[in-house]
This record gives sequence, C-alpha cells and structure tokens, in this order.
Amino acid sequence: MWARKRLDIGWSDFAFGLAHCSLPRDRGLLTRRVETAWSPNGDGLACLSVRSGFDLLLTALRLPPGSEVVFSAITIPDMLRIVEHHGLVAVPMDLDVTRLSPSRESLRRVIGPSTRAVVAAHLFGSRFPIEPILEEARPRGVRVIEDCAQAYAGPSWRGHPETDASLFSFGSIKTATALGGALLRVRDPEILDRMRLRQASYPVQPASDFLRRLLRYSALKALSSRPVYRLLVSACNSLERDHDRLINAATRGFPGPGFFERIRRQPSAPLLALLERRLQRFDPRLLDRREDRGRALARLLPEALPAPGAELPHHTFWLFPVLAADPGRLILALRSAGFDATQGQSLTVVPTPPGRSDLDPVVARQSLARMVHLPCYPGMREADLRRMAEVLRREASLADE
Ligand SMILES: *Cc1c(COP(=O)(O)O)cnc(C)c1O
Repeated sequence: MWARKRLDIGWSDFAFGLAHCSLPRDRGLLTRRVETAWSPNGDGLACLSVRSGFDLLLTALRLPPGSEVVFSAITIPDMLRIVEHHGLVAVPMDLDVTRLSPSRESLRRVIGPSTRAVVAAHLFGSRFPIEPILEEARPRGVRVIEDCAQAYAGPSWRGHPETDASLFSFGSIKTATALGGALLRVRDPEILDRMRLRQASYPVQPASDFLRRLLRYSALKALSSRPVYRLLVSACNSLERDHDRLINAATRGFPGPGFFERIRRQPSAPLLALLERRLQRFDPRLLDRREDRGRALARLLPEALPAPGAELPHHTFWLFPVLAADPGRLILALRSAGFDATQGQSLTVVPTPPGRSDLDPVVARQSLARMVHLPCYPGMREADLRRMAEVLRREASLADE
C-alpha cells in the first residue's frame, strides 16, 4: 500500500536531532544564526510554529477588538481559533479553485471599514501571485499576511517582499520539516521588535518534548514504507480501527487542552539546530523530483477528476488533491488497489460571521467537500502513477453512468 504521504526528513536528520537533544547549545546564538540564514537583512523571526508566530503577530499588531481579518477561505482551524482568541472576526474570501488563489472579486466584496488584515494562504505547495491582494489592501491601510506554511520551496523564496508578514512552517508534515519550527519575515521593524520581546518572555520548549517528537516521527517514518504500511492498514482493519483517524491524530500539532500555553513557547535548541541544518542542506533536486511526479500524474488524470492548481507554474506538489464526485467511493477504490488516498481532516472552510451568510465562500466549501488527496511523491515510479490513474479513469467513467 502506498502511504498517503511521506515525511520529508531523512534518518540522518533524526540522528542529528537526537544528538542535539543532549548537547548543551547556546539558544540565543542558534536563534540569530537561523534567523540570519533565513533573512540576512534582519527581518526574520524563528518561532515554535506558524501558529505561535501568528499569535505573536496579532498581539503585536494591536488591532482594535472586533476588527475583521479576511482569510482565504481554506485554512487550518487553529488559525481561526487564534483570531477569535484575540477578539477579532475572521471573514472568508472565496477561492478561484483552479488557480488555488483567493479571487480579487471576492476580496472586493468582503473588504469593509472594519477590515484590518488579510491572511492569504498558498495551498498544497502551489504559489499564486499576491499582487492583486496588495493592490486592493494597501490603499485601504489593510495589512497583508502571507500564509506560506504549505509553500516552502527552498530558501530562495521567502514570500513577497511587499507583504507585511510571511509565515513558513517546518512542522512535521511540511516540506523540509524540522519536526516543528517556523520562520517568519516581518516587514515593520517596530512590530517585529514587539514580537521578539514578547516571545523572549515565553518559556522554552523542553528538550524532552522535542525528543518525544523525534521518536514519534521516526516511528511514523518507519511505518510509511510500502510493506509496513500495508500491514498497518490491515491491522487497523482487523481491529476495526480507522487508520485514517489514527494517522490524523498522530500527526496533529498541539492536541488536547492548553492550546495557547503550548504554542506560547520558544523553540528549543535542538529544534533550532535541526531547523538550521534543514535550511543549509536544502536540496532543490528533491523538490524537483516531487514536482516532476506531480506534473506526470496531472497528465494522466481523466477530465472528470480535475486537479486544482495542477497547471500553475509555481507548484511543488506538497499535496495532490483532485475533486471527485463521490470522494468516499473513490477512496475505497484506490485503497483496494493499494493507494491510500484520503480526504484529510486538517483543513477547514472559514465560516461566515453571524448575519453575513451572503459572504459564504461557496466555491471553497464545495471544492473542499469533494477533495481527495492522492499519494504522489518521489519513490513512486511512472508505472505506479499509471496504475493509480487507471483506477481513477475507471471510477470517473463509472460516475458518468
Ligand atoms: C500547517 C499550516 C499552518 C500551521 O503551521 P504550524 O507551523 O504547524 O503551526 C498554518 N496554515 C496552513 C495553511 C498550514 O497548512
């Protein structure tokens, strides 16, 4: 069984992380080194996670309570939870789903006198041009925040230089993961200073926490090889456990109670060390190979199963979603052919604020409901992709009847 995804981290990275859990390191020095490696001109900030950094940013921006923060309509639920915690109101802007881009027309419709910020997410490894959003937001004094958590494509792209902030995640399932950590670019030095000061007051992530992450994810990496993964799925089946839920629960970032306590921490020294290593040793050929797999699969798809964003010029195919008429059936067909596709549970559609159902992001909602993520990564050969495409074509033609 081909696992839905493979963690983008090598065994030598795990070994490096383990070694650094017991080495005393100067956290301050490591932080400066990572931030300078990320952005030599001093506007970089290393955090425990994008969620931690976004929470810091909202604190530093001091937006008046009740201000509206416009979100591109598909994001992770915790981003909305953070906005709400700050007494702000999230408002969705709908997507142009073939371009995986917020639509300018939708932004014009939702932006109003209480709008103070726009958060636009680049989805699934793709990148959309953010200029139209800057053009709408800037003249109105609205801040533009670029959520690049899914879009890391190597150190040469750190978000659009004109946005107020860009947020990159190195969380466990993200590209070039350091099993946590985030790198931000913040344009306004005063805001950045406030964020730094506040972050310095946080407790430091215990090295033992990071050690537990290393152990958990090395186990998950070991499980994702084809024969072992097949055993895992069939064991779950015979125990009547849903492997989909099990995996989603195992890879959740900050599960359980005490969410804000847990994101309000400084990254530990071993995490920073691993993050520095991932930046320094970034190998563009690995991403080229992933893109190559994505492009190959896109060419094999039947018309009835469109792949949002697959045509975009900037795409690393972190995930490969298709829009299915009957996602449940497609997933079953793929699984019985040895491909562990999933609907995923980590993304959500931004709900409309009370009384604003006219702003319902219909396209995003309908697309997310139909979305199925296909396994597609280096390691799968052309023949494997073809075999998967066969299943897709068969299902698409059945759906036609
Ligand atoms: C993963 C993700 C985040 C959160 O990143 P963390 O570093 O895990 O906090 C935020 N936004 C999007 C769109 C994501 O995919």
